[in-house]
Amino acid sequence: MGLILSAMSYCRTALLLVDGARYDVLSKLIAGGRLPYLGRLHLRRAVTVFPSTTGPAYLPLLTGRFPGPLNIPGIRWLSKEVLARGLLHPHARRSYMGHEAIFFDRDIPVKTLFEHFHRPWAVFSLITKGLPRRGNRTRWSRRLVYPYSHFLHDWRPLDHIFARKLVQWASSDSDFLFAVFPSVDGFSHLYHPVHPKVLESYRNFDIALGAMWEALQRRGDLDRTLILVVSDHGLTPTHTHIDLAHFLQERFRCLYYPLVFKPGAASAEMVSGNGMSHIYLKNGTWRGRAFWEDIRGLRAVEDLLALGGVDFLACQDQGEAILVLGREGRARFLSEGDGIRYEFEGEDPLGIGKPGAFSLREALEHTYEGDHPDAPLQLLQLFLAERTGDIVVSARAGYDLRARWEFPEHRATHGALVRGQMIVPVLANASLPPEPLRTVDLFPWVLKLTGKVLGQLVLDKQERPLRDIYKTTVDGRGHTQAA
Ligand SMILES: [Zn+2]
Repeated sequence: MGLILSAMSYCRTALLLVDGARYDVLSKLIAGGRLPYLGRLHLRRAVTVFPSTTGPAYLPLLTGRFPGPLNIPGIRWLSKEVLARGLLHPHARRSYMGHEAIFFDRDIPVKTLFEHFHRPWAVFSLITKGLPRRGNRTRWSRRLVYPYSHFLHDWRPLDHIFARKLVQWASSDSDFLFAVFPSVDGFSHLYHPVHPKVLESYRNFDIALGAMWEALQRRGDLDRTLILVVSDHGLTPTHTHIDLAHFLQERFRCLYYPLVFKPGAASAEMVSGNGMSHIYLKNGTWRGRAFWEDIRGLRAVEDLLALGGVDFLACQDQGEAILVLGREGRARFLSEGDGIRYEFEGEDPLGIGKPGAFSLREALEHTYEGDHPDAPLQLLQLFLAERTGDIVVSARAGYDLRARWEFPEHRATHGALVRGQMIVPVLANASLPPEPLRTVDLFPWVLKLTGKVLGQLVLDKQERPLRDIYKTTVDGRGHTQAA
């Protein structure tokens, strides 16, 4: 009997993503009794990925991987290798914010969670790879209602569709649902992360969850359904927009969205969320990364660091170490065995606090309560992408990096490697792994609880220095999904 019980697994899974939900806001609403259904779930904090932005931050949940090793380092990116073949090459650049979103599935080189289930459904998901055509339940409303909501500042029609789809799913024979709730992020950008309309959105989510909950209960499915609620990033209020594109344009002719086909450009700027940005330098030829040794003498780097609102710059040196330049100090670290070797001078820009050798777990523990949660691993994974910029810029809370071509104006920001944007809530009706936790840990946890078999761990050469990322994702057994 005991054996049967311990081998029992969930037959259905609902993975609900509240885009832009903040841990502190959500936990306070729960404590005040405002979110009765979410209040029934176990609650934890977790660290999302850098850049903390929609799209890349879905990848740990849907693939169990960081965006860096998947070569999807932002919601916008440039590939210098491909650009070197021609300015007009269709895969030299991306913005998943516009029509190039159709390439997102194609750009993901691994299996998704959808492929582990028999009849998966998706609602408002930017990623649909591995989803059968009829599993995409909002194919048309996503195309038609999203632009309406975006330009007319009214996210409530999407909330209504979301709520209806959750109840439909509960009554269907589908065994997996991935559904994105958009209005917390939408209203936060428009107003503030704790604006009354945002708080009303959290409440609307809870009502939708409640309706699904009751429908599952009526069917007798509640006990065999795993319900996991998570966010992809937090948000912090924004008072100042830094015109990073203009800053670069004044020094090097610069490509940035939507002006990405200018001939004769010597730099490019690809912003995410808008708290982080990739800067690419032509450096003679577009081919290959510009290292610290190539850019250290540039006046522009000093000027960039002196810009109010820039938290830090990160780049790589020829020894493949990551350099982090803060205003008051700098750090240098590289992966060594299963961990990192970390050193700094002046004020430690990432807040590890002491130099030395650390496992990636220890680096997470040392930074979990600080201003830059999990920063060493987050930068290591990002620089595994060929498409990562030569210089990565992360903004301080209160600032973003996009002063033009953003309509409507953003009054809240994510994307940066700062606490308010990196820490997210995780809630489930099953007991969750302990903190410190990363959202990338949830993928193997879902597979385990739903009785799915994990493939043998496959590491390619590029990923090997980060092998303990994969160990930590599956109970230290060293297994995860094969590529
Ligand atoms: Zn957003």
